[in-house]
Amino acid sequence: MAAMVLPVRATERVQASRAIAVRVIDLVGAPLTIRRRALEQAARLFARVDVTIVWDNSNRLTVPSKPFVVDLTLLDHGNDPLTTGRVLGSATPLPSVPAISVFYRDVQELAQTCGVPSEVLFGFVIAHELGHLLLGPHAHTGLGLMRPVWTRADVVNGVAQGQFRFSAAEGERIRRRLH
Ligand SMILES: [Zn+2]
Repeated sequence: MAAMVLPVRATERVQASRAIAVRVIDLVGAPLTIRRRALEQAARLFARVDVTIVWDNSNRLTVPSKPFVVDLTLLDHGNDPLTTGRVLGSATPLPSVPAISVFYRDVQELAQTCGVPSEVLFGFVIAHELGHLLLGPHAHTGLGLMRPVWTRADVVNGVAQGQFRFSAAEGERIRRRLH
């Protein structure tokens, strides 16, 4: 039997209150494969805390009732002159549709510098920014996925080797927020 790609199984038992629907707005023309793999990576990080991520273009946007909807914009600093330098992403908990942004070229550059597949780093950045939306204003921590600044060691150990994840306490807060 063919191996199943995560998190297809999770979809079968998806609870609307524990689902995040990501709508992708791509201003940089990121390859579809990269986008898909990045979202799958982010979905795996959330699956560990029992939260399902679905997104458009994935045939997985069939959630029974109202999920928590988030707009994900992929952009360059050229699209957003207010930010410069190595900012990988941002999160805006707007009252209507909460939004996160990922600076795609910066993610690519940092991934390349660290010898990590860009879609993997991309997925971790998406998860970090979603964490901001769900964990509130004091989401940053000294260790793990919610570290504010990612050094080369963070990218190599935390991202490439998969050590970064949401803590049990963070998982609890995220599930409470989605309820
Ligand atoms: Zn942050």
